[in-house]
Amino acid sequence: MRIVLMGMPGVGKGTQAERLRVEFGVPHISTGDILRDAVREGSALGRRVKATLDAGELVSDELMQALIRERLGRPDARGGFLLDGYPRTAEQLAALDAILGALSLRLDAVLLLTASEAEILRRLGGRRICSGCAAVYHVDDHPPAAPGVCDRCGAALVQREDDTERVIRARLQLYRSRTQPVADAYRQRGALHEIDAAGDPAGVFARLRRALGRT
Ligand code: AMP
Repeated sequence: MRIVLMGMPGVGKGTQAERLRVEFGVPHISTGDILRDAVREGSALGRRVKATLDAGELVSDELMQALIRERLGRPDARGGFLLDGYPRTAEQLAALDAILGALSLRLDAVLLLTASEAEILRRLGGRRICSGCAAVYHVDDHPPAAPGVCDRCGAALVQREDDTERVIRARLQLYRSRTQPVADAYRQRGALHEIDAAGDPAGVFARLRRALGRT
């Protein structure tokens, strides 16, 4: 299975991607996770993109293209992959088409998770991540057993730098102006499955499975 997973920031892509990864046994390639890991590790890439990530802006298409080409070329992506957070601009869509064409690969499905902006603001505003193992929580929807402490590793939970309201609004605006056209292009190709992301994660996953033809 070669899948692109799309949707506004905070719509629940990470949660659903984890379920899809288990179901289909394909690597979950999240560009946001790759970039955040690089920042945490303080690598050359991380130092280059930290300010961009903190501001909720987009990393350059050139850098993203190099990153994706390298990642999709790795052996574990040969049997399929789940791409989350890429492509995010019309330029990235063209780049992905070219990369897949060079590898003689086609996408099986593009999944678009949808939710209202009010719901997105609620989800992102309450999101907390573990400073140790990057596990994701929500203060209302998925709270840890002890407030502010990761169930899994005991480290402190923090808010992502880019989950403050000002930055969230900027990210949503970027989504509308740069990423919505990518979804529109996939829709025109007849490749887009739109899935309502409201409600509990199990229900959303059931809808995703149905969209992929699984019962
Ligand atoms: P995400 O976790 O997908 O919301 O990504 C977090 C941040 O990483 C974004 O706000 C961007 O700064 C950067 N990023 C992730 N994917 C891309 C991409 N495809 N193009 C440009 N920047 C990206």
